Amino acid sequence: MKIDLGGRVAVVTGGTRGIGYTIGESLAGAGATVAVIGRTLATAESAAAAIGHGARGFACDVAESASVQAMMEAVARDLGSVAILVNNAGITRDNVIPRLKDADWDDVLNANLRGAFLTTRAASRGMMKARWGRIINVSSIVGLVGNKGQTNYAASKAGLIGFTKSVAKELASRHVLANVVAPGYIETDMTQGLGEEVRAALLRQIPLDRLGTPADVAAMVTFLASDQASYITGQVFVVDGGMAM
Ligand code: NDP
Repeated sequence: MKIDLGGRVAVVTGGTRGIGYTIGESLAGAGATVAVIGRTLATAESAAAAIGHGARGFACDVAESASVQAMMEAVARDLGSVAILVNNAGITRDNVIPRLKDADWDDVLNANLRGAFLTTRAASRGMMKARWGRIINVSSIVGLVGNKGQTNYAASKAGLIGFTKSVAKELASRHVLANVVAPGYIETDMTQGLGEEVRAALLRQIPLDRLGTPADVAAMVTFLASDQASYITGQVFVVDGGMAM
């Protein structure tokens, strides 16, 4: 099966490193013109240069409405109408519930959930008009099964699932599909801080006996972005080595 995304413009939020960077590489490798989104222009541009294939970097804080609007307009002007939107930008601010600060809650919900709403709203009109679109939201198994010390993160990632299913129902008649990819533990900056003991305990829970790689997630996202995935919408795809069976 050859995936051909030629002629499609893809926006990847949080594309400067980790999972998002590899998603950008994978979509670009399949022929898409990729807009790499990060909070600073220099970082986004250098990631885009490394990805190549005509990828371009854009600065945007996905939690800010005006910033998202400006970024989407710049992408449409410079690259063309957005056909593929990957909401991958995400942060953690972990703490147990008695110690979780208002700002820890708000920052995580704003970046992880409000961000997906703002970009989806901005991209939806063009996708509906084109009668073709793919919205792929990167959640987490934590959004499905919960996790101690991550109430804010779990709420944001579970919220993404309900959001995605509703978008899928709203936009299906226009052939705009929305799905969720829910990774398990993936080797990136986000998981680099895990101590050896935590890592060993995690591995005991993962039947495939390794942490995932960004490429494991990118492969699923790239498939969902393709024409081959045209009969799939409103679904959650878990990429976790079998952890949450
Ligand atoms: P990283 O911490 O490595 O990268 C996060 C990315 O998000 C960066 O590119 C960062 O860009 C961007 N970002 C953060 N906040 C904003 C914002 N407000 N506006 C725009 N961009 C922002 O994360 P991962 O690659 O590990 O994770 C990617 C996604 O996958 C996240 O949604 C995460 O929750 C999810 N996930 C990760 C798992 C893992 O094990 N790593 C497991 C399950 C889900 P910059 O700093 O340049 O602005």
